[in-house]
Amino acid sequence: MQSAQVINPIPQRSSVQALQGPQLTDKASVGGTLVEQTAHHNFSLAAQRLGLSDDQQLLLRTPFREVKVSVPVQMDDGSLRVFTGYRIQHSGARGPAKGGIRYHPAVDAGEMQALAEIMTWKTALVDIPFGGAKGGIACEPTQLSAGELERLTRRYVSRIHRFIGPFRDIPAPDVNTNAQVMAWILDEYSSRHGYSPAVVTSKPIELGGIRGRAAATGTGVGMVLAEHMKASGRSLSGLRVAIQGFGNVGSNAAAFIEQHGGEIIAVGDVNGAILSSGSRPLRVHDLIEHVRLTGSVVDFPGAVAIDNEELIALPCDVLVPAALENALTEDNAGTVRASVIVEGANLPTTAAADRIFRDRKIEVIPDLLANAGGVVASYFEWTQNLQQTRWPLDKVNRQLSAYLTRAYRAVRKVAEGRDMSLREAAWLIAIDRVARAESLRGAMRTGSARA
Ligand code: NAD
Repeated sequence: MQSAQVINPIPQRSSVQALQGPQLTDKASVGGTLVEQTAHHNFSLAAQRLGLSDDQQLLLRTPFREVKVSVPVQMDDGSLRVFTGYRIQHSGARGPAKGGIRYHPAVDAGEMQALAEIMTWKTALVDIPFGGAKGGIACEPTQLSAGELERLTRRYVSRIHRFIGPFRDIPAPDVNTNAQVMAWILDEYSSRHGYSPAVVTSKPIELGGIRGRAAATGTGVGMVLAEHMKASGRSLSGLRVAIQGFGNVGSNAAAFIEQHGGEIIAVGDVNGAILSSGSRPLRVHDLIEHVRLTGSVVDFPGAVAIDNEELIALPCDVLVPAALENALTEDNAGTVRASVIVEGANLPTTAAADRIFRDRKIEVIPDLLANAGGVVASYFEWTQNLQQTRWPLDKVNRQLSAYLTRAYRAVRKVAEGRDMSLREAAWLIAIDRVARAESLRGAMRTGSARA
């Protein structure tokens, strides 16, 4: 096995003290970007509760492998451009590494590291036999032709193929990647290693994808929200919901919530946001069609234009951040008027914003739980590829609901039993499971045991 250089080391100290207390701020510096700080904060709180030593924390947080590659691409105009690609495998303690591939200008080592780590805790929380990974290429995909995008993807795979595989690391889509990109990865990988449908998930159905996978993250957001409402004797019916981000996650969450009686009153994307006019909510099917035709939610007939900060501050029952990281910070957390936040995106809430929500008694259903539907469905796809079987859609959705409901109830039980937030409980359960796996493998000893 080839080893790779550590490109962005984790701080060699436990900085939880610096991040606790009333001074908690987005400007608190423990090194790294805001997403790294958020991940570090959430990890440190739970690790301390578990009684993990600094050394154990370091072992659990340091990525297993970090790969950084150059991705040279011949452009349509004959020029050559060299992009930078990453694949970070955070942990394989509980199974092959698993995580998406993102094409975005902001992709860098620190962001990939934080997002890979989130995948480790997410797969552990929903108890599927995977670790965590993330990858991506720093690029602006909207400025690439289909041919350039395909060549970029194939060259990236040619650089990382030794590090991925059905029992090593299994990519999936993330921001600006989709089933077509997965098909190119499958083809490029299989041309070197033989037919390997289980090397990626969220593939086209024709290549071994499963029904329901493409929608599963957003569907899962809706399922987890439904379970949360049920726990307090409520339902999705009549809930007024605002959604930031109307891509894969946001649009599928909207569709599920609408199907179950909720009302989507506002949505936003990178170009702007819209609010339903009068008492009629937005019609999700028509809005998805509008986005397919125009590329944005903006100018949806009958809706009122607002901006994304106004969307965050709307009076509503539920706010779903489903765009990118750091959407909710100490600067705008005080403006939120929803009573529940469901994190469709990864790391959308900074530690300081989270503290403000806690103080204001706004419930937050954390990313580890809320957007885990995609990776759970990916697990179903992977097992079916290995067995060469295929489930019907209703079975996929029944099983998806079963996994997410079980995880929600486990988190809620710990949160209520130990008087902590759903986020703290989710991280605690997840870290404990990975720590136990590392301990059983012999990588570390733990005296910790979750009550
Ligand atoms: P996507 O590319 O399909 O959609 C992203 C959406 O966010 C688009 O509507 C885009 O316009 C909008 N957006 C981007 N920047 C914005 C900004 N600054 N302000 C407002 N809107 C903005 O991506 P996706 O797959 O839906 O992923 C969204 C989030 O969910 C990401 O954080 C991703 O990591 C997370 N996630 C995705 C999956 C999945 O299966 N796709 C699984 C788990 C978590």
